[in-house]
Amino acid sequence: MAYKFATKAIHAGQHADPSTGAVMTPIYQTSTYKQASPGDHKGFEYSRGTNPTRKALEDCLAALENGQFGLAFSSGMAATDCVLRLLKPGDEVVTGDDLYGGSYRIFTKVYEQYGIKFVFVNTSDSEEVRRGITEKTKLIWVETPTNPTLKLADIAEIGKIAKENNILYVVDNTFASPYLQNPLDLGADIVMHSATKYINGHSDVVMGALILNAEDLYKQLFFFYNAVGGTPGPQDSFLALRGIKTLHLRMQAHCENGRKVAEFLKNHPKIEKIYWPGFEDHPGHDIAKKQMKDFGGMISIVLKDADLQETFRIASRFTVFTLAESLGGVESLINHPATMTHGSIPKEAREKVGVVDNLLRLSVGIEDAEDLIEDLKQVLS
Ligand SMILES: *Cc1c(COP(=O)(O)O)cnc(C)c1O
Repeated sequence: MAYKFATKAIHAGQHADPSTGAVMTPIYQTSTYKQASPGDHKGFEYSRGTNPTRKALEDCLAALENGQFGLAFSSGMAATDCVLRLLKPGDEVVTGDDLYGGSYRIFTKVYEQYGIKFVFVNTSDSEEVRRGITEKTKLIWVETPTNPTLKLADIAEIGKIAKENNILYVVDNTFASPYLQNPLDLGADIVMHSATKYINGHSDVVMGALILNAEDLYKQLFFFYNAVGGTPGPQDSFLALRGIKTLHLRMQAHCENGRKVAEFLKNHPKIEKIYWPGFEDHPGHDIAKKQMKDFGGMISIVLKDADLQETFRIASRFTVFTLAESLGGVESLINHPATMTHGSIPKEAREKVGVVDNLLRLSVGIEDAEDLIEDLKQVLS
């Protein structure tokens, strides 16, 4: 039976423990599993490859993204790395020019040295993606909404281009979460998540995930997952499973608070520019309306007449927002992309896509919106 999102978030992949009846999935804190005779086991041999707590999480993640298979990793970057291992020297990748800094870093500093070429285009224009393709293109990697300027890519339109050209198509769905957007339904072959963010949602776990439908592709990815070994332990898997049980409620609160904070900031005299896809004048608003359930709690602002020093001063004065990297937790965070999350991108490349020195990114949490607005009011006054 096809259950709806909230039911899947609470139950998918999870069964009362057969040996004790424990309702919550136990933390199977074990590296290995007894075999009755060599090869005669219960589906678990060694915890780098498989662990029952992680398996419950992977099945739950797959259900949330409407996929057949889920793979959990010890970080979002380990998940990204697993996909990139499918490539061979000479292959090309078409990807966005406004990416998570760590994705840009693994592309250019790790995989370029193995002879893989990355072509960076503005993915909010699907035709630019098409123009970036050559006969060597093996992968399209899209992030939407992008980090930090919240540009939207049309997942379905790019999916058609990928299919026409027989190219593997991955969507990094970290910013939207499976609650707001399901790329597999729109033509993606693989969904990637930094589960560190909204999925776990409590800023106490670093984890990544891949979700997909094709069994042959799953087998290839599982090979690298086990062979390379960037898999999470049972404690973290348990925490992520627990976090997911409130994903739908948290996302509703993030979206509601995001809207209130964005509306407060929109006409503030200290704000030169605001990026939030819920505004009708945001260039990606129509795409967001088409493919997302709501507009999320991520907002970026450019401060008016603020140099780096003034921007630092403002970023350091909050009392409810915390100045920190990361996003998607229950608590509100503020981040200075140019020196923090996107510090690994050369100044020229980041400024071209709007990651200027006076840009701040807000991850609006689920505290009382009035307290968040008061905090912003104080700091900006
Ligand atoms: C954080 C993040 C990643 C990397 O994930 P980690 O869990 O930090 O390794 C990748 N993509 C996006 C959009 C992110 O925000």
